[in-house]
Amino acid sequence: MTHSHAFLSWPFELAVNTGVFTTRQVMEGLEPIREVYHDTDGDWQFLCGTTLDTTDLKLVCLGCILEADPTVGELAGMPPLWCASRHAAGEEWVQEPYEPRQDEA
Ligand SMILES: [Zn+2]
Repeated sequence: MTHSHAFLSWPFELAVNTGVFTTRQVMEGLEPIREVYHDTDGDWQFLCGTTLDTTDLKLVCLGCILEADPTVGELAGMPPLWCASRHAAGEEWVQEPYEPRQDEA
């Protein structure tokens, strides 16, 4: 991935070009990010919550996510095994711990 992102401030401890998961709908601007997961292994997922289809899952860089929605910068300090959710763009993020799915154990 060769992206050049220029941010005046960068909230995450991760590099701008860290690979993260999102959905096609988010990247195409069709849906806002509604669910953010910080996995136990350190992976981040920024999902719209409208699809679980693996063909809609996209690996992009964290910089692309911040450009798509700067408010996810508020979640930079969220620890692993926590998720954040909201119903619509512009709403406050609600952060809470989550149980890992059993089929991933
Ligand atoms: Zn990018």
